[in-house]
Amino acid sequence: MTQRLPLADLHAQYLSIKPEIDEAIAAVIRDSSFIRGPWVDRFEGEFAALAQAPHCVSCANGTDALYIAMRALGVRPGDEVITSAHSWIATSETITQAGGTVVFADTDPATHTIDPAHVAALITPRTVGIIPVHLYGQMADMAALGALAAAHRLWMVEDCAQAHLAAFDGRPVGSFGTIAAYSFYPGKNLGAMGDAGAVTTADPALARTMAMFARHGGLKKHDHEIEGVNSRLDGLQAAILCAKLPHLPRWTERRRELAGRYHRLLAGIPGLTLPTEAAGRRHVWHLYVVQHPRRDALAAHLAGLGIQTTINYPVALPFVPAYRRLGHAPTHFPVAHAQQSRILSLPLFPEMTAAQQDLVAGAIRSFPG
Ligand SMILES: *Cc1c(COP(=O)(O)O)cnc(C)c1O
Repeated sequence: MTQRLPLADLHAQYLSIKPEIDEAIAAVIRDSSFIRGPWVDRFEGEFAALAQAPHCVSCANGTDALYIAMRALGVRPGDEVITSAHSWIATSETITQAGGTVVFADTDPATHTIDPAHVAALITPRTVGIIPVHLYGQMADMAALGALAAAHRLWMVEDCAQAHLAAFDGRPVGSFGTIAAYSFYPGKNLGAMGDAGAVTTADPALARTMAMFARHGGLKKHDHEIEGVNSRLDGLQAAILCAKLPHLPRWTERRRELAGRYHRLLAGIPGLTLPTEAAGRRHVWHLYVVQHPRRDALAAHLAGLGIQTTINYPVALPFVPAYRRLGHAPTHFPVAHAQQSRILSLPLFPEMTAAQQDLVAGAIRSFPG
């Protein structure tokens, strides 16, 4: 039995809506609307509507979205920005690129999201903002973080790269922060066929600044009000995203259904810790991440049965070489440090069949433990 099961099957998604994608690509080529143009405007409008955000500004990728947000917020040298020890490096490296100082906070063991109590302990007179990461598709504790941000007059940039259409107490993801940053990297819950990203905000002045900054500092050609960068969503990606966007609610429901099915299939296996959905949070299951004390042996066992897994992420950010200069020890981030050797991401994608999921569950059950 050497069936191959990938972590996510992007080709299956393409095949499921092939005529719509092919027509979108052909339309952009027909009009030569490769940069800006009607598809980019349309995507910004449609994504804003779906995300229930007043303004959406598209950009080249999710990393740029975070950077553009912080430049628009005016981060200056010496400004401290607190973010999660457990994320992709884009979240923290953009703080440095914007001129700020990265301050890592540990995570909550149940949700892998930033621990508000640790954030509170890290706030200094130099703290300007917080970047909660809605990791794996589940939102951080926005009630507690919102209270801290209000009390200390801090901005919040929500890293929504993994959490399109998530919610907290019925409020949509991205509506808590000053700005929300999205990625449409191919493997994300809404993925382009290349790089793509966006920011959303309720603040029209910030929206205008971010739109200018992403386009060489001007909304009209040769009208450079400020210095900016070149961070554009291209027409092909915008058209592809427009074709995929109407399917996102259904794909998200399917992810939730599959996660529920995993919960049932994997319940009660000794040593295996299953992910949880915290009360009041609508998890969109970008990743289904289990924990096991013998994680590497479990991953090897699954690989031997043709099942692909991955680790998101193998080393918590404070301990990657890029942050050696901060001199962190495991005791500074006990939760993130303990989990980096236990976490394992299982295959989960909207097109996954029940039979494929049964295969994964059976393979895990056959692990000698
Ligand atoms: C993917 C991701 C990003 C960066 O997005 P890109 O589009 O790859 O630049 C940022 N933060 C998190 C949490 C991500 O998962």
